[in-house]
Amino acid sequence: MSVPLSSEFSIPTHRQIGATDHPDQDGPCTYLCGNSLGPLSKRSNTLVQEELNAWSTRAVNGHFSTHPYGRGWAEFADHITPLFAEIVGAHEKEVACMGTLTANLHLMMDSFYKPTAERYKILCEAKAFPSDQYAFASQAVAHGLDPANVVLEISPRPGEYTLREQDILDTIAREGASIALVIFSGVQYYSGQWFPIKTITRAAQEQGCICGWDLAHAVGNVPLALHDWNVDFAVWCTYKYLNAGPGSIAGLYVHEKWKETELPKFAGWWGHDPVTRFDMPPKFSPIEGAQGFQQSNPSILSSAALLGSLQVFKDAGMMQPLRERSIVLTGTLEKLLQQSKYFVPTEEAAVWQSTRPAFTVITPADPASRGAQLSLLFLSDGLMPRIHDGLARLGVIGDERKPDVIRLAPAPLFNSLKDCEQAAAFLERIFDSLA
Ligand SMILES: *Cc1c(COP(=O)(O)O)cnc(C)c1O
Repeated sequence: MSVPLSSEFSIPTHRQIGATDHPDQDGPCTYLCGNSLGPLSKRSNTLVQEELNAWSTRAVNGHFSTHPYGRGWAEFADHITPLFAEIVGAHEKEVACMGTLTANLHLMMDSFYKPTAERYKILCEAKAFPSDQYAFASQAVAHGLDPANVVLEISPRPGEYTLREQDILDTIAREGASIALVIFSGVQYYSGQWFPIKTITRAAQEQGCICGWDLAHAVGNVPLALHDWNVDFAVWCTYKYLNAGPGSIAGLYVHEKWKETELPKFAGWWGHDPVTRFDMPPKFSPIEGAQGFQQSNPSILSSAALLGSLQVFKDAGMMQPLRERSIVLTGTLEKLLQQSKYFVPTEEAAVWQSTRPAFTVITPADPASRGAQLSLLFLSDGLMPRIHDGLARLGVIGDERKPDVIRLAPAPLFNSLKDCEQAAAFLERIFDSLA
């Protein structure tokens, strides 16, 4: 397994995060939360400092060629789009660095969700990330429709925690004629399930549906080939596995086959042809492809943080070597967890009656159906917060989803086998102390 790039990142120390029970107060914590907020890379730190310096020494002139580091702000996104294209498997024209995830999702739905009397449903996974649920429902309302009739959710079977591919395909086949849009998350934020993007996209399109993806938990986590999979559109944020910092600028993809003149609908000057943008012409002439959707000039500080992290990905050889590392790390963590005295298989968890402290892992066991994250489900009332507190005191940063799940994600860019071992050993110690 290749060396992790942990030295490229600032990982908080035990002291900094208040992990009072860990003996090595100045050592780095066990950060397994890159699925929620990636850590700061030293490269991002440098690039943001450089942009602050450019701002302080050039002010408005930093927009153009006098930028001291050759990254004039007017064209800053041109440094990001090639890396975005590589990481999601798309052509450069198909991607844009812009906005924020939920806003981009609305933009995409404005262009791609066109309900008719016969075809008006939105098919998604049950318990999608709340922001997505709100977006789907409010788009229905914006079209004068009742979300209860529009939003069609697929749930796991009773006693199961993840969706079966066949159930998704059967629903698409059965309901296809009434579905306008199929939109799933690439990797489900709660369960960690990686959906078969290519298969679902094809099945949806065979029924005449548009197929879009929310890649918040997939980008920088699993390999993607959006263009070859013929995905219609996709959106993602950059502060999770892409480590671009809290609330950072986001991403958008539109397949090149979409060249219709009614796209984009809600124009802004940054979607206008850059050759004449600063002539300020009265008529909008969009850039061909995804960048035509750009509305505003991008936040440079957040774009600089993103660029730094994407350069670290590039140095690591992008997603293929990282994915190989990821399979080993997550497989190791899973194996260690399964060896716990407190582990029970999911079939048993589904019919659990006992009050003895125990947990299961609800993320799919097949590496092809998951990325880095494992979701641990704790099986008695009030157990999860106690475990989460215990882990935090020992410096293991995972993230809790009330009422009973803790997500642990060994990110291949900066986590190591030692992180997996620490997390499993500390989990056992906390369970022992409760039992
Ligand atoms: C993280 C996440 C979001 C957050 O949306 P923002 O607009 O970036 O605040 C939305 N949807 C999904 C699926 C997510 O995982």
